[in-house]
Amino acid sequence: MRDCCRRLKPYIVPQDEGVVKLNQNESPFDVPEEIKERIFDRLRRVPWNRYPRFDPGPLRARLANYTDFPAAGILTGSSSNEIIQTVMLACCEPGDVVVIIEPGFSIYPRLGRILGLDVRSVPLGRDFRFEPDRLIAANRNARLTIFASPNNPTGTSLAVKEIDRLCRGGDGYLAIDEAYYEFDAETCQALIESHPRLMVIRTFSKAFGLAGVRLGYLLARPGIIEVMDKVKLPFSLGFFPQICGAELLRDPRLVRQSAAQIVRERRAVMKKLARLKKVRAIPSRANFILFQVRGMPAPRIFADLRKQGVLIRAFDAPRLDQWLRVTIGRPGENEKFLRALKKTLGVS
Ligand code: PMP
Repeated sequence: MRDCCRRLKPYIVPQDEGVVKLNQNESPFDVPEEIKERIFDRLRRVPWNRYPRFDPGPLRARLANYTDFPAAGILTGSSSNEIIQTVMLACCEPGDVVVIIEPGFSIYPRLGRILGLDVRSVPLGRDFRFEPDRLIAANRNARLTIFASPNNPTGTSLAVKEIDRLCRGGDGYLAIDEAYYEFDAETCQALIESHPRLMVIRTFSKAFGLAGVRLGYLLARPGIIEVMDKVKLPFSLGFFPQICGAELLRDPRLVRQSAAQIVRERRAVMKKLARLKKVRAIPSRANFILFQVRGMPAPRIFADLRKQGVLIRAFDAPRLDQWLRVTIGRPGENEKFLRALKKTLGVS
């Protein structure tokens, strides 16, 4: 085994059952039964002994409609993690400089290390705000700059006009991970027209409620998509995610409504957290909130909530050891979280 691989920490997140599960930024809403039935019907008619469609044309056509982006500029993959891996494989030679932000999504440095890339991180500023000038300076010599906006786990984002500046300031590739875009964030996809090296990564794991199905996509110039399609493993996207995606996109209102509900809940949870004196929460544009409690260690709060049946996320990473992240759930789940937190803090 290669040294860099042996040294990796396993990617493990607790997945307790029977608890209020607010630790993986999933949607709290399962796919409605009538849509599942339509999917089952189609699955019955597909020959399982045959490889899936090489080019998931019908799904791409629906995505083109949903994103208002040309189908030739869309690549689908088995999760956005696979898309991220494909982007790195296609853009970077071993030793190339890749810029990420910190704290950020842990998959980028992990994959970067596996691929032998020179990963450099730009720290976020106060209250985890993006610092565009620092990013622009780092991006100048990078082969690839990749980060999420809104960012996981901070919920902070970089304005589209700053992404525009970033594109102008360097000639490397820029991949913006918009996993949380449906939760009231902006998209930078319109910039692809003027910036040929810009790519936008999206997932069905959050607002679409398909985390278990594994489906993601990339928006980019057709020339980039053509190369990515050759780099990605053939047939990595099975017919199950292809059919699920196409069926959910038949009427995107459902996704928009559930995302809007999550945003309303997020605002309500934020307000209630703001009333707790010791709690400091970071305003978020995603489906989670990062917070800390003055005078009480984060691991203790995590453990105490877990004992009360509420699973949130704690971190073993620089700058995050005193922070916790809670995913926005259904109203009742959010209430349980808030009640458990108050109990832990000893307030009523
Ligand atoms: N990007 C970001 C920013 C994420 O937070 C996540 C999920 N934690 C992913 C990508 C991975 O999503 P997927 O399920 O599509 O692999």
